[in-house]
Amino acid sequence: MNSKGIQTTAIHGGETPDAETRASSPNIVMSSTFVVDRPVSFSVNNMDDETPYVYTRWSNPTTRQLETKLCLLEHAEQCIAFASGMAASSAILLSQLHRGDHLVVSNTNYPGIAEITRNLLPANGIEVTSVNTSRLESLEQAMRQNTRVVWIETPSNPLLRLTDIAGAARIAHASGAILAVDSTFASPVATRPLDLGADLVMHSLTKYIGGHGDALGGAILGSNMMISRLRERGAMHYGAAISPFNAWLIMRGAATLPLRMRVHQENALAVAQYLENHEAVEIVRYPGLESHPQHDLATRQMENFSGMIAFRTRQPRRVAENLMKQLEVIHYAVSLGHHRSLVFFMETQDLVQSSFKLTGAELKEYEEVAGEGIFRLSVGLEDSRDLVADLDRAL
Ligand SMILES: *Cc1c(COP(=O)(O)O)cnc(C)c1O
Repeated sequence: MNSKGIQTTAIHGGETPDAETRASSPNIVMSSTFVVDRPVSFSVNNMDDETPYVYTRWSNPTTRQLETKLCLLEHAEQCIAFASGMAASSAILLSQLHRGDHLVVSNTNYPGIAEITRNLLPANGIEVTSVNTSRLESLEQAMRQNTRVVWIETPSNPLLRLTDIAGAARIAHASGAILAVDSTFASPVATRPLDLGADLVMHSLTKYIGGHGDALGGAILGSNMMISRLRERGAMHYGAAISPFNAWLIMRGAATLPLRMRVHQENALAVAQYLENHEAVEIVRYPGLESHPQHDLATRQMENFSGMIAFRTRQPRRVAENLMKQLEVIHYAVSLGHHRSLVFFMETQDLVQSSFKLTGAELKEYEEVAGEGIFRLSVGLEDSRDLVADLDRAL
């Protein structure tokens, strides 16, 4: 499957007709346990390839099909699927970092990950430095002798800042650290961080890869060696296994990922251009616009600009209320990457205090773009003129 095109891979990767029934669509194997016909160890430390399926928290045939498809899309040797993106993220952070270790993380990112890295990890004796990783000099300055992990998100929540993955990998490796990339906003259609030198890639499958807003899931991808260790500790022991039903739904969504990403990009560009020309809109950030401060990097690092837009308006609280009341097509809701368009107001005060904990120059740099708050718009697959008309009414 490695030599096939991305659409063929997305559709057929990891799947084959069922050997017994010749069903063309994959079975959903809703079984928590599997009957064994030879002695198997009860310890995950002694699992082997001859009895691949023993208990679904360890592995499951439907989940395995999804994991194989994701490996092919992301150019990874191995993948573990999880119950959610947060489960996948905490599996990486909690199994790679121990008391006395140091983590460097982007200073704006998904709020759940911001909160784990600002609160939970320091409480467990892990040192954390957050910096604006879109400036590689800042990343380099933050590295220490005991830095074990560099965690970046690109494009990142909520300002769509990009980080140069190849540059970040060089800096991490020079200090003996690994680079983990939250690539949820990009999807494997836009960017394949492992090809650029990253050690681990994390996805919230809830977003673009599942794509339909119906199932939570997460995944970690990387080399055989990195992922085997994570499977044992991060997946089997912490226990956040994905339901085979959700794995099946996400696999069905993933089959159309390349097609969907093309329309997400096309629609997002149309909506971003409309917003840029609207008099009530002060700032638009979309990696596909020439006005994006890192448009050059976006062009080098992203084969698709994805469907995420951030924009700031005059009187944002009033606009947020209008959007809640007047939108007919776009849903005013959190989450992203679905076929339905979603918009949400991300209030600065709230985010910088409870999640990002920004102060001083970093806070100022954030506020210069976000002001009192910024709208995060996940442009879906509806007709772009309907999306523009919907926004136009509310703006
Ligand atoms: C949604 C999201 C997560 C968390 O994933 P869940 O599936 O909601 O647990 C992590 N990172 C990013 C960038 C996300 O958008």
